[in-house]
Amino acid sequence: MCSEFDIIRQYFTRPVTKAVLGVGDDAALISTTAEKELVIAVDTLVSGHHFFADTDPRQLGYKALAVNLSDMAAMGANPCWATLALTLPRNLIQKSEAWLDEFSAGFFELADTYQIELIGGDTTCGPLNISVQVIGEVEKGKALLRNGARPGDDIWISGHLGDAALALAHEQQQINLNPDELIQCLSALHAPIARIELGRRLINLAHSAIDISDGLMADLEHIVESSSVSATININEISCSSILRKYLSHPVAISCLLAGGDDYELCFTASVRNQKEIEELSLKLAIPLTRIGKITQGKGLTVLNSNGTAITLETRGYDHFRT
Ligand code: ADP
Ligand code: MG
Repeated sequence: MCSEFDIIRQYFTRPVTKAVLGVGDDAALISTTAEKELVIAVDTLVSGHHFFADTDPRQLGYKALAVNLSDMAAMGANPCWATLALTLPRNLIQKSEAWLDEFSAGFFELADTYQIELIGGDTTCGPLNISVQVIGEVEKGKALLRNGARPGDDIWISGHLGDAALALAHEQQQINLNPDELIQCLSALHAPIARIELGRRLINLAHSAIDISDGLMADLEHIVESSSVSATININEISCSSILRKYLSHPVAISCLLAGGDDYELCFTASVRNQKEIEELSLKLAIPLTRIGKITQGKGLTVLNSNGTAITLETRGYDHFRT
């Protein structure tokens, strides 16, 4: 069967003339004024697929917006407006409206943090499905794209990777976390922090960026392909929580680190010259920023083990039609 990305490429990718940037990056760009471009992204969460049907509605409202804000962060954009398309099962709201109270509270908690206005949407009845579109702004010509990586660039990631996927692995009984570990990993899964401020500050420091939503390897591969370069990263350099580190001898934990979904951290590439400034930014924003490898000429992505041998994984990341 073809992959999610084959489908997008084959059926829905067309050249744009009125937009600045169409299908293929974390968001689209439209030029509206002489100084600014609009940045537009949409993401859908499907019950039983992206979240368990009994997920706390407040967390769900928060996360539905957070995953879109992550795409804004990856473009270096300032999020301003949102629309919300909700499909709700009748039985969810028939008995009580508590679910909606909680869902909307979670949504607006995050919206208010960034002064994002909900300006429209759609509400229908059917299997639970939440689709949020976010519209942001970026200074004209300054958006961070996937296609700007250059040979010699350092590859960086923000935060720690793999905890959200580790929580999911526990829920699916692939690994056994203790209760404290589970609480911490579940918070990564349910309440991802979009790196909006980091994205904005990277505008003049990074050559390319993507948010890690489908797994580090899959998302870095998007940078590599769009930029027509190759990348080598070192598993030892990838920052992870002490919890994930504890389980690293387990293949499931390695897979969570390299190919787990739902991290919502940024992966970006930057000239070696900017290393010091990026390290200072890390201190200023109190966000770990770690160099994990290099961009080189050529094709493809290589992940090296501690002994310098290449790691192969069965899956490189999340694909809706292959996983
Ligand atoms: P992300 O993980 O950043 O949300 P995706 O991998 O979902 O990005 O999508 C990759 C690109 O394909 C994006 O530019 C997105 O807007 C575009 N895209 C995805 N599905 C469709 C579709 N059905 N029609 C048009 N464009 C699509
Ligand atoms: Mg993205």
